[in-house]
Amino acid sequence: MKSEELFKESQNYLPGGVDSPVRAFKPHPFFVEKAEGSQLWDVDGNVYTDYCLGYGPLIMGHAPSQIMKGVSEQIKKGTTYGAPTQNEIELAKVVINKVPCADMVRFVNSGTEATMSAIRLARGFTGKNKIVKFEGAYHGAHDYVLVKSGSGAACLPDSLGIPEDTTKNTLSAPFNDPEALKDLIESQGHDIAAIILEPVMGNIGCIEPEKGYLEFLRKITAENDILLIFDEVITGFRVAEGGAQEYYGVTPDLVTLGKIIGGGFPMGAFAGKREIMEMIAPSGSVYQAGTFNGNPISVNAGLATLNELNSGFYRTLNKKGHKIRSAIADIIEDNDYDLNVVGLSSMFQIYFNKNPVKNYADAKKSDADKFLTYFRELLQQGVFIPPSQFECCFLSQAHSTQDLEKTIEAIASSLQVALD
Ligand SMILES: *Cc1c(COP(=O)(O)O)cnc(C)c1O
Repeated sequence: MKSEELFKESQNYLPGGVDSPVRAFKPHPFFVEKAEGSQLWDVDGNVYTDYCLGYGPLIMGHAPSQIMKGVSEQIKKGTTYGAPTQNEIELAKVVINKVPCADMVRFVNSGTEATMSAIRLARGFTGKNKIVKFEGAYHGAHDYVLVKSGSGAACLPDSLGIPEDTTKNTLSAPFNDPEALKDLIESQGHDIAAIILEPVMGNIGCIEPEKGYLEFLRKITAENDILLIFDEVITGFRVAEGGAQEYYGVTPDLVTLGKIIGGGFPMGAFAGKREIMEMIAPSGSVYQAGTFNGNPISVNAGLATLNELNSGFYRTLNKKGHKIRSAIADIIEDNDYDLNVVGLSSMFQIYFNKNPVKNYADAKKSDADKFLTYFRELLQQGVFIPPSQFECCFLSQAHSTQDLEKTIEAIASSLQVALD
């Protein structure tokens, strides 16, 4: 059991034995040897079909050869320059072309940096201080947004080390609840710079906006001089070529991107309307900078990946999502399980909850312990999903029909184990 030994050792050197909290599941995480396509191998020789996919970035699967070829050529030409390259313009054009709200873009290194910078920009642009986020939404691990956060933070108390002075400007509201937001804006709207949201909440399971809700947010923000920020770090290039804003037909003022945009390498971005984006330094006075911003390797991989995405790509990918969700729905119905399957396009999750889930409070009523039994059983059967009820599963171009059929069988028997 090499993974078990490595985990014991890693806990001496890395807090909790890992570099990001959600990776540390019980009894111990597996340590990875290599990955290719839809498959992941651990150091003990086990192989898994991967539906975690790096928590979202790998829409083409692991190490797609056409992307890796370009990356190896780029590596020979240097790995970071501290000076601009033509490829940054090319990638910016592709992003602007695909994403409805994007007139200009700034490339950064992670989704966390993207939301931190977009929020600063919104404050700079509006001259207001407060932001609104939704309960259970995850926008990265910086101080402004670690309030009632999703992802790994959904299972922990609010983080220490964040001054009240910082979070007093972060208001939170329940998702899919127009009345609650109206009240908040009525009382504090004069000092709200932005509302930031995951248009599909992907860090507390998978929750879609109810019909008309995004339109409501668009309208109420416009009427109150509040910027609307879609955090599309998951949904960008995932639910459609232009992200959730294309899928639902609602255009925000700013968007934050990450995960898929780096083609499997670290990268984030924020983009939006020209008059807002031009406030970013050096063209304007909202400061944002980074040694590795626009890193040539990430840009190369991101550009090659985004160039693969077109309507045919999504048609094929989304069919796989439909297949797995409807197979799970059949299993639930045939066995009369108190579960519900959710998701759209190539995202899916099972809530261990018999009631529909439309916000954080509903999601938290799910049986997270039974979910973990289900997760462990799936792992035994060679299927890797994120180890938490409060994450979302993903599909990639690399997943074959055979992968899906094997997985559906594994899901059926794992649910049986979890619910017995
Ligand atoms: C993952 C995620 C982030 C943070 O991105 P990192 O690259 O991990 O910093 C922000 N917002 C959403 C919606 C995410 O899913």
